[in-house]
Amino acid sequence: RRRVGVLALQGDVIEHLRSLETVGAEPVRVRRPEDLQRLDGIVIPGGESTTIDKLARIFEVRDPLVAALREGLPAYGSCAGMILLADRITGGTHDQQTFGGLDITVRRNAFGRQLDSFETDLDLDLDDQPQQPFHAVFIRAPWVEKVGGDVRVVGRVHLADPAAGSVDDAAGGAIVAVRQEQLLATSFHPEVSGDPRLHAYFLRMLD
Ligand code: GLN
Repeated sequence: RRRVGVLALQGDVIEHLRSLETVGAEPVRVRRPEDLQRLDGIVIPGGESTTIDKLARIFEVRDPLVAALREGLPAYGSCAGMILLADRITGGTHDQQTFGGLDITVRRNAFGRQLDSFETDLDLDLDDQPQQPFHAVFIRAPWVEKVGGDVRVVGRVHLADPAAGSVDDAAGGAIVAVRQEQLLATSFHPEVSGDPRLHAYFLRMLD
């Protein structure tokens, strides 16, 4: 069984632990530097990215985690986790630091007030066929505004709601799922909707 960590400082940790178990991984809570040992991959959960970053510093797990990511530890981030894996954040009021690794620019809370939280079905470009739409739950989610050359777009959201006017201006919908080599990130929360396919996909990335 693959040992997959879940950064367990704040956010929907239990949901990710459950999802990983469902797809046959051995989930491991990560709070301290020593918890990073012998992991095959790590999940950065949804929650509040500034809080997770702050706690990671307090628990002294931030620097070793950043080092492990640099060395190629596979990682999957959902929502706040996507923000923490991004190299760049835009639209913030202060300089928020991330763990980095993914060559993307994200906008926090991008869907605005009208669409604070919503659910919708997405077509994801995962490699399992045939594809059923993925029921995606968005909670004060970021979207991806720019992607680097090595980043593959795995999913976009197309919203009819006029409140999301700027979304569809962004060339065919807002980018909400990306992969760059051993890194995967989604704006939404598969750990909440309970569809195991993204966790299963991440597990296959570890082979
Ligand atoms: N809005 C949160 C942040 O900026 C992310 C929300 C979430 O993870 N559901 O960190």
